[in-house]
Amino acid sequence: MLDATLAELSAALAAKRVSSVELTGAFLDRVRKLNPDLNAFITVDRERSLAQARAADAKRAHGDAGPLTGIPVALKDIYCTKGQRTTCGSRMLEHFISPYDAHVVEQLERAGAVALGKCNMDEFAMGSSNENSYFGPVRNPWDRRRVPGGSSGGSAAAVAARMAPAATGTDTGGSVRQPAAFSGVCGLRPTYGLVSRYGLIAFASSLDQAGPIARSAADLALLLNVMAGFDARDSTSLDRPKEDYTENLEMRMGGLRIGLPAEYFGEGIEPGVRMAVEAAVAWFEAQGARRVELELSRTKLAVPAYYVIAPAEASSNLARFDGVRYGYRAKEYSDLVDMYCRTRAEAFGAEVKQRILVGTYVLSHGYYDAYYLQAQKVRRLIAQDFSLAFEKCDVILGPTAPTTAFEIGAKAGDPVQMYLGDIFTIPAALAGLPALSIPCGFDEKGLPVGLQLMGEHFSEATLLGAAHRYQQATEWHKRIPKETPL
Ligand code: GLN
Repeated sequence: MLDATLAELSAALAAKRVSSVELTGAFLDRVRKLNPDLNAFITVDRERSLAQARAADAKRAHGDAGPLTGIPVALKDIYCTKGQRTTCGSRMLEHFISPYDAHVVEQLERAGAVALGKCNMDEFAMGSSNENSYFGPVRNPWDRRRVPGGSSGGSAAAVAARMAPAATGTDTGGSVRQPAAFSGVCGLRPTYGLVSRYGLIAFASSLDQAGPIARSAADLALLLNVMAGFDARDSTSLDRPKEDYTENLEMRMGGLRIGLPAEYFGEGIEPGVRMAVEAAVAWFEAQGARRVELELSRTKLAVPAYYVIAPAEASSNLARFDGVRYGYRAKEYSDLVDMYCRTRAEAFGAEVKQRILVGTYVLSHGYYDAYYLQAQKVRRLIAQDFSLAFEKCDVILGPTAPTTAFEIGAKAGDPVQMYLGDIFTIPAALAGLPALSIPCGFDEKGLPVGLQLMGEHFSEATLLGAAHRYQQATEWHKRIPKETPL
């Protein structure tokens, strides 16, 4: 059961071969066993999860079960959960109890899914390795000395280690796709606005998107069906008819135009990553897909533009953490300003502080035009480049990240190296495009490699269909990390 897909679990629940209480209990036992070592969860509340499982079993007994009813799903700890601690990986919110549920949490609950616990993450989702969490790093189930990726590293590690059949993440510049790649699982960043941001603790609001992490593209489709949808409480939520993302999974590959940007196959890519991605491209061609050579020449500008825009928005969003309204407050202070300063100095970690400083700087008078405005122009050009590219192709293929998972500590002292690892995930985020990552092989160290598929706005069904066809023919996504055997 721990290794089953969502569709298999759903069938087992429907046939009464297992109850949600039993299933949830089995995953909770697995979490109890593995979490002390992997540190993928920050908060687990067994009774809370089992109560939801009982409710799901009752729902099913009443005959109103959907595909996810009774299935446990882990939540990144950036999703507010009513009456339960939501830390966002920060000391600032270590004891914060949310008074409401995020829209996605409500939707999952309405579908009868069971919230399994809150997953570890980089503080305020700032990071690519989960080393920035106040609650300590997460370990990669494929090799405990390595990072699982970030910022949704806990979610990805939980799914990889079969501690949860699926999880939620958020992707601002790659935080669903890159940890999925590093951890050998699947992750989807939807089109900006497709999933409501209501109740997600904000990092960079023009980039933040919620997305599912699971072990197959078909499972991602089931999750997206529940997560996507209009919500008036998010002003950027898109009001469009609901789609069934499972409908296109058996799509025809013949004639699919796959775009291959030269910049995604150039320098700086590890040989093991390149080989696995090229083999996947060859598979698509063998199915009748047509290869289209592309240039996305502004790719190298994406990282610098993102690391201006994201910190700018973060510096504004994080102003609310002042010791008055939410979370931590310094114990000793002389006056109000001193209280603000000490609270923020004590409760934010180094990466968050650095971004607040950068963000405040690029927005300040005299620098705004030179940095922030310039970055916004670059963002627009990158989006235009994609629009032109999607006149020539349907899906863009490439690596999700230039490397596989690195060792804990290897890049911690070098922010530029860390940021450059985001080069292939940031462009789609800046353009608001959907993109997903699926496993496409292993490097010589036995570490998983991620294949990225990017598409035009609202092309989720095509991306999921292409990924599903690939997964019907390959077994990469079925491998179990050797350090966490069943
Ligand atoms: N690694 C990127 C950053 O540090 C992306 C993070 C994210 O998508 N939340 O900002």
